[in-house]
Amino acid sequence: MYFLTEEEKQKLVRGLLPKSRKNQVVEELRGWNWNQPPLEPIYQKSLALYEIAGKYCPTGRDLYLRKVEGVKTKWNQAMIRGVIFHNTLTNLLVTAKKLIYLHGVEGLTRIMADLKEPDFEALESWQKRIDDDFYLQLKEKVELIWEFEYNRLVFRLQDLLAKQPYIGVDSLASLTIPITVEQKLDGSFLGLSQYLSADAFNFSEPMILDLKFGQPRDFHKLTITGYALVMEAIYSFPVSIGAIIYPEFKQGRLAIKKEFQVIDDELRQWFIEERDEKMRMVNEEIDPGVADNCYQSCPYYQECQ
Ligand code: SF4
Repeated sequence: MYFLTEEEKQKLVRGLLPKSRKNQVVEELRGWNWNQPPLEPIYQKSLALYEIAGKYCPTGRDLYLRKVEGVKTKWNQAMIRGVIFHNTLTNLLVTAKKLIYLHGVEGLTRIMADLKEPDFEALESWQKRIDDDFYLQLKEKVELIWEFEYNRLVFRLQDLLAKQPYIGVDSLASLTIPITVEQKLDGSFLGLSQYLSADAFNFSEPMILDLKFGQPRDFHKLTITGYALVMEAIYSFPVSIGAIIYPEFKQGRLAIKKEFQVIDDELRQWFIEERDEKMRMVNEEIDPGVADNCYQSCPYYQECQ
């Protein structure tokens, strides 16, 4: 899912990259300027990135309840589904990398055989906490995700070996999977948690990738913007493009939609405003009140209603 198709690469190279170079980001909104306004954090207590970027609750009371009142999150089905699918994909990519190193460039048949069977570890870790129907629904989808990504990986391996017959194992691993999954990042320069974890970072094109199993929402752009700012703060190189990946299960098949985004001044400004507002709420313990339009599956529904 994290891999770009040929059409997407063209779109990136001919469309988004030139556009991002033309739309110069204002210097003060680059992450490496974290030590001066407007990026410099005003408050002490740090937040996780999802706490800033998640705007499912219209007033942000979910964050207030969790951070100020100490209310425990009651995981809903969408959250459980998301974490299982994310972890399944991570397991697959990490296992594939290990197998490439283990069996080497001559070991394609072994790699394919060892990787083919889905790993249900992420799903099984939830088995005792979810009902059987839900478990079976998820199992079917985990199989679909695995099969889809397995086929993409095998294609990439075969393609690379055909084009580069003298390739070494390290190059084979990094070109087949040019992605770091669950990239750990220290966001403390920007008032964020020290232990952030981006879904994936594509190092063949410096780009943050975020996977969302759910309906597209405008505020999803805040996640890739936040990670881009953190990457810039840590590594001092520009990260101007991100992509949000929306997998969808349709009639037993998987459809993947990717939304590419230039991380421009407007998005950066939006992220900083959200951060400041939410940090203020938590640090000054301000209850923003119950929203008028709460969603039924909100993990804090009982608490608020
Ligand atoms: S129940 Fe409503 S106000 Fe409370 S956290 Fe959920 S969405 Fe926000």
